Amino acid sequence: MKQGIHPEYKKTVVSCACGNTFESESTKDQIKIEICSECHPFYTGRQKRVDKGGRVDKFKKKYGM
Ligand SMILES: [Zn+2]
Repeated sequence: MKQGIHPEYKKTVVSCACGNTFESESTKDQIKIEICSECHPFYTGRQKRVDKGGRVDKFKKKYGM
């Protein structure tokens, strides 16, 4: 086996600025990130847009529905 070429991957706790933590594999002991899938604008923003449905309400008001 060739040694020293591939770094050793181990289980690492990734902690996000939002407080969410999850396990991942990395060569580092601990990873700190500022954004994750739980607080990423792509996911949260999309969710909010779906919940609001502002465009539909305006449409309904305009046509008296
Ligand atoms: Zn996060």
